[in-house]
Amino acid sequence: MAMSEPGVGTDVMSMTTSAKKVPEGYIINGRKMWITNGALDDQGTPADVLFLYAKTSSTEPKRAMSSFIIEGKNPGFNVGQKLKHKLGMRASITAELVLEDCVIPVEQLVGTEGDATIHMMRNLEIERLTLAAIGLGIARRSLSIMNTYASERKAFGVPISSFGQIQKHIAESYAKYKACRAYVYQVAHNTDLAHAHGRLDSDAAKLIAVTAAKEIADSAIQVLGGLWLHG
Ligand SMILES: Cc1cc2nc3c(=O)[nH]c(=O)nc-3n(C[C@H](O)[C@H](O)[C@H](O)COP(=O)(O)OP(=O)(O)OC[C@H]3O[C@@H](n4cnc5c(N)ncnc54)[C@H](O)[C@@H]3O)c2cc1C
Repeated sequence: MAMSEPGVGTDVMSMTTSAKKVPEGYIINGRKMWITNGALDDQGTPADVLFLYAKTSSTEPKRAMSSFIIEGKNPGFNVGQKLKHKLGMRASITAELVLEDCVIPVEQLVGTEGDATIHMMRNLEIERLTLAAIGLGIARRSLSIMNTYASERKAFGVPISSFGQIQKHIAESYAKYKACRAYVYQVAHNTDLAHAHGRLDSDAAKLIAVTAAKEIADSAIQVLGGLWLHG
């Protein structure tokens, strides 16, 4: 899903990638940044199919953006930088996409011109729920690691799990994880793939679950002392 650009992230409506109608279909120019699975491997093999947003009009803001399918084989489409050394989400390659006079047939327009805002908001509803679930995974793993380590590591002749401060890290992390899990699952259960309207809860679930994940990961760091686990 290609939305963000080098100069445009949160302020996504200010995107500059353009799609101009031509007799052959559309000609697309611009750069997209931070695209998850934008490359399939370290050699930069492009994804087979991408969902891309571009401006189709610069004069009428409400109808300005449209959605397109881009195929990896479309001429003028290339993978740019492959973004490595990320803080997280290392299991997927994040890449820059470059579109230079990329001509696509009109059939690759999704819906009608100007539909992209609703597509984007709908997509973000599902994506934020997914990110909340990623937060749950981080929380669960951190909890498991700190719990195991606390029962194995000894200080002052006893397992560190017998110390109140360590128990506080584990107990609070467990409670936060379970509360977030219940909320994320409830939102997922209520998400209607055929209709929008769930954005309030998908935003809220992401907000609370990823914040808890960061706090729980920090607790794990405290429990592990100077030990650094990789992977
Ligand atoms: C691992 C990863 C994968 C990604 N995958 C994709 C993808 O598949 N497709 C895609 O299109 N994009 C993807 N993105 C991009 C992501 O959507 C953007 O990073 C995000 O929208 C934020 O944009 P930005 O990084 O440009 O931050 P900026 O917009 O530059 O924001 C920087 C900081 O300023 C804050 N800020 C911005 N505006 C305001 C405001 N009005 N008030 C207060 N604070 C503000 C932000 O909260 C943030 O803290 C990915 C990013 C990452 C890191």
